[in-house]
Amino acid sequence: MVTTGEGGKRHAGLETVRGRIAGAAEAAGRTPSDIRLVAVSKTFGEAEIVPVIEAGQRRFGENRVQEATAKWPPLRERFGDLELHLVGPLQTNKVREAVALFDCIESLDRPKLARALAAEMERQDRRPALFVQVNTGAEEQKAGILPDAADAFIAECRDEHGLEIAGLMCIPPLDEEPSLHFALLDKIARRNGITGLSMGMSGDFETAIAFGATLVRVGTAIFGER
Ligand SMILES: *Cc1c(COP(=O)(O)O)cnc(C)c1O
Repeated sequence: MVTTGEGGKRHAGLETVRGRIAGAAEAAGRTPSDIRLVAVSKTFGEAEIVPVIEAGQRRFGENRVQEATAKWPPLRERFGDLELHLVGPLQTNKVREAVALFDCIESLDRPKLARALAAEMERQDRRPALFVQVNTGAEEQKAGILPDAADAFIAECRDEHGLEIAGLMCIPPLDEEPSLHFALLDKIARRNGITGLSMGMSGDFETAIAFGATLVRVGTAIFGER
């Protein structure tokens, strides 16, 4: 599947990734348009991002609030509606900025953050979609709620804070078979009645699609090495 933007411009990395997404979807008996691509543009500047926008990509991911706040408002002014996802950890002192800037926050992972987001979304009357990040590998250094605590946390987000949970997100450990983690995330989502699954990066998005990903977060395969 080749998609070109308004000016008919093409971007090799983007085309390759779109083609691979379509191939993986077909192989899994899924509809390619059910899988949304988040182009992860962290560390890249306008020179690299603009050609990707001009080739038709509208959904981007960043992992740091500060970097995104500096980068995206001018691009939005120039290109109109773009969908921005926060895929990195969120500190509570950055919640105000994050709610103002992002359309989707994929890293909701603790009660204190749920409370802060609920209050700030109310204050700004702006409601980015929320994904709960699950630390499926129970890695000490990694963000995310532990799998055992996920059900209770999701219930707390919904019942105590009135937050709608659009999906779950995970980043599998580097040295493990990602499919086990994708399957676990899917299982937690199903038993909580959640349909969104953000999983799969440059190295494993085709596997993630086979396991039900609805969002894949791809940086390197589009933009090149960081
Ligand atoms: C950087 C990043 C990605 C993209 O990783 P690539 O391997 O470059 O595709 C995806 N998700 C998160 C959370 C990231 O921080």
